[in-house]
Amino acid sequence: MVYSARALALLLASSVAVVTSLFLSLVESVNRDALLVAAAISFSASYLLIFVVLEFLVFREVNKIHKIMEKLRKKELSNIAKQKSGALNPFQKINEEIHNFATLKQKEIDELKKLEAFRKEFIADVSHELKTPIFAAQGFVHTLLDGAVNDKNVRTKFLKKAAKSLDGLDILVQDLLTLSQIETGDIKMKFEHIDLFKLCAEVVEQLEEKAEKKDIKLHLLADRNKVHVFADWQRISQVVTNLVSNAINYTPDGGEVTITFEVSKKHVTTFVSDTGEGIPSQHLTRIFERFYRVDKSRSREKGGTGLGLAIVKHILEGHNSKAEVQSEVAKGSVFSFKLPRSRNDAADSDEA
Ligand code: ADP
Repeated sequence: MVYSARALALLLASSVAVVTSLFLSLVESVNRDALLVAAAISFSASYLLIFVVLEFLVFREVNKIHKIMEKLRKKELSNIAKQKSGALNPFQKINEEIHNFATLKQKEIDELKKLEAFRKEFIADVSHELKTPIFAAQGFVHTLLDGAVNDKNVRTKFLKKAAKSLDGLDILVQDLLTLSQIETGDIKMKFEHIDLFKLCAEVVEQLEEKAEKKDIKLHLLADRNKVHVFADWQRISQVVTNLVSNAINYTPDGGEVTITFEVSKKHVTTFVSDTGEGIPSQHLTRIFERFYRVDKSRSREKGGTGLGLAIVKHILEGHNSKAEVQSEVAKGSVFSFKLPRSRNDAADSDEA
């Protein structure tokens, strides 16, 4: 564009110089030298003038394009940090704008590709998880239909097994729904001042029978009988239930599961510890992923959906918190999470 502006300026300036010389040659008193000087001056002046005017027009148009691109970027990518160009040259500005735009679009494409891969993997995992209990129940029902139904003992046994598989399927679907509702934001956290000690006592009561079946002692220890935090009762109850339930599942018969609290000025940390099998360190960062299990077949045997800790993670994220885990193989694990201490808590503890 610069070159074409220069060429045009040269052409027009030459024409002006020729016309000026022709015009002056008609005047008798003007000699040859004066003609040459006049031609040179008119050529230089008109070249400069025309070139500046053309450049100005080009700059104006380029600036218009630049503004349009900037508007486009602001509209489409308002949530992404903008890199303001400090350049004065509009060509450089446009270049930078195009570069920024392309970089941002590439980021979007990469993000979408990642989501697509994640979606495919998730569908494959869910299909696999659903297939297991459905196939089991289907097998028992077909065996009954093929004649086992006539044997009273076998009939009851197979019906119980089919029912267990279907119960597992129901829990899996419920967990999947919970997870998807938390992720899409359909479940809003209902924050209030709640007594965490009371909440844990209720969870212990509900899981006592499950622990007794394995001869596991369930303790709830606190040096105060009220621990107030600001949280969603129902969701935190689910977090504690999932952690205690896991602790029971992964602790051998005769072991112990204990809930304790650590109260600081602003926070309350809840610890769920067990004397169970523990988790090898290389798995610790992955156990909060959906369907991630340390020992796939054994965890399934124990009745888990593989979603318990993913749900814990999402609920705690909704509370601006996260679950921590410390574990030692063959010794046990400690899961913990921190919640903001309720303003009322100090007054309550004074009463207690
Ligand atoms: P699951 O339904 O399989 O228990 P979770 O998401 O609750 O799924 O847990 C993921 C995995 O983390 C489990 O399969 C298990 O391998 C491991 N895990 C969780 N809690 C414990 C624990 N207290 N002790 C040992 N391993 C645990």
